[in-house]
Amino acid sequence: MPDKLIKAVTKNGFIRIYAINSKGLVEKARKFHSTMPVGTAALGRLLTGAVLMGAMLKDEGTSLTLQLRGDGPLGRVMAVSNSKGHVKGYIENPLVELPLNHLGKLDVGGGIGQNGYLSIVKDMNMKEPYIGQVPIQTGEIGDDLAFYFAQSEQVPSLVALGVLVDRDYSVKQAGGFIVQIMPDCDEFNLKKFEKTAEKITSVTGMLEKGLSVEEIVRTVMGDFEIDILEETEADYHCDCSDERMRRAIISLGKKEIQDIIDEQGEAEIVCQFCNKGYNYDRTDLVEMLEKAKK
Ligand SMILES: [Zn+2]
Repeated sequence: MPDKLIKAVTKNGFIRIYAINSKGLVEKARKFHSTMPVGTAALGRLLTGAVLMGAMLKDEGTSLTLQLRGDGPLGRVMAVSNSKGHVKGYIENPLVELPLNHLGKLDVGGGIGQNGYLSIVKDMNMKEPYIGQVPIQTGEIGDDLAFYFAQSEQVPSLVALGVLVDRDYSVKQAGGFIVQIMPDCDEFNLKKFEKTAEKITSVTGMLEKGLSVEEIVRTVMGDFEIDILEETEADYHCDCSDERMRRAIISLGKKEIQDIIDEQGEAEIVCQFCNKGYNYDRTDLVEMLEKAKK
C-alpha cells in the first residue's frame, strides 16, 4: 500500500506544511538494500525528505536528487524523487553498525559524518538543472535540509524526519514533515509559530501514538487554522529497465564496450536502486557496440 502525503497551508497563507507517513517506502528501501539499523535510519530519513521535497516541485517530469557525502562510515547516501510521489535511494555502506548516540538513538550523524556536502539537483527536463550545495551541518539529515532551505532558497524551514527501527530490524515507524515560512509572513504569525514549534515532539513519537498524517499536521501547527490542500500517495519506485541499462552501456563508448566483449564476453549490471540484475551476452554487447559507433 502506498504511503500518504499531505500538503497543507495556514488559512492566512503564511505558513505551509508537507507531511508524510513513509513507513511503507522506507521498509521497501530496507529490503532492497539490506540495511542495518543505522543505514535504515539514514537512508529512510533522506528518502522521506526527498519525497516531501518532490511534492514541492511544480512541473510534471521534474526530478530531484539529494546526495549526502560526509566522512562517516555509511559513505554516500542518495535519494531521487519526483512530483508524482516516487522515490528511490542508494546507500554506499548499508551494513555499517554503530553504537547508539548519547541520546540513546541511532547515530545517523555519526554514520554520515562531517566534512562533506549535501547536494541538491533539480532536473527540469529540457532546462538547465538547478544545482545547490551546502556543507553538512550535523549529518542528522533534517538539520541539513533545514540549513539548505535557509541558505540556498532563503526559506526558513523546520524539517523533522524520523525512522524507528524495530527489534527484528524492520521499520517500525517512519515519517516526517517540513514547515516553511512564506516570504510575506508577518512578525506576529512568525512569533506565534515559533511558540507553537517549541511544543512539537518527535515525528516517530507521534506515529507511535497512532496519529494519522492529518493529525500530525494539525498537531504540529497547534492553534493555526489550516487548509488541507492535497492528499497524495508516495511509494518507493525504481524506474530501471532493460532499455535504460542498454543506453547506459552504449554511453560508455565503443572502446569500453569492446573491452568488455574481449575480456568478459558478457555483462551483468545490477541496478543500484533496487538491486535488480540485467544480463547481456556477446550478441547483445555487439549490438550495443554497433550503436555506440554511430
Ligand atoms: Zn532498479
